Amino acid sequence: MTKNVLKISGLRVAYGGIQAVKGIDLEVNEGELITLIGANGAGKTTTLKAITGTLPDCRVDGHVEYDGQSMKGLHSFELVQRGLAMVPEGRGVFTRMSIHENLLMGAYTKSDKALIEADIEKWFEVFPRLKERSAQMAGTLSGGEQQMLAMARALMSHPQLLLLDEPSMGLSPIMVEKIFEVIRSVSAQGITILLVEQNARLALQAAHRGYVMESGLITMSGDADSMLDDPRVRQAYLGEG
Ligand code: ATP
Repeated sequence: MTKNVLKISGLRVAYGGIQAVKGIDLEVNEGELITLIGANGAGKTTTLKAITGTLPDCRVDGHVEYDGQSMKGLHSFELVQRGLAMVPEGRGVFTRMSIHENLLMGAYTKSDKALIEADIEKWFEVFPRLKERSAQMAGTLSGGEQQMLAMARALMSHPQLLLLDEPSMGLSPIMVEKIFEVIRSVSAQGITILLVEQNARLALQAAHRGYVMESGLITMSGDADSMLDDPRVRQAYLGEG
């Protein structure tokens, strides 16, 4: 039977008087690559922050279950230990540390040094650009390389579920293609992914299933291939018709 990794039901989030998320349901099953697409301000990042419990002071209603349990009140350290990793918008790499040091930081919940180094080598195979620049300061990397480093760092914690917030944002078309190649390859290794993206075409091409979010509501969901063929998605998100 398919294992449910993430189950969101009736989630509502309000920042003061602004209802950013208006009661959404979303599920991610083990091994799936799910994308949540939608325009600027639709509520996608707020949804991810509700999953990790990193929202600022605001009203949250509804349920978020990870691995069948609520995560209310857990510290980020405990979330990472339980296999939840997030790569936020803007990436947040440690700019004054080298690539290698950033990757070591990603393994902060682990203690076996030999295994950590073996993991770094493993992820260097997926991210060869990082291997070539292992000693380079993260702050001197290009935007795309920093995005790769942020992903590799999150993967160092052995996540069961990887949350990615707009990984293609601000990158050149070639780098965007490369990032999506990496996302597919991470997914092919069996890691469950929830991908928030504005690049609907690439996201749906990579994903198994998708959800469309508009003004705080999920307005469409389904199999990614059928969504790519859906006239409403084609018109609103793929720039067609
Ligand atoms: P983007 O792609 O621009 O990040 P998004 O779909 O991720 O868009 P959110 O960032 O979740 O959208 O924003 C949803 C709504 O909530 C927007 O109207 C936004 O202005 C509002 N909002 C987000 N963060 C805050 C905050 N800290 N305080 C007040 N309002 C906020």
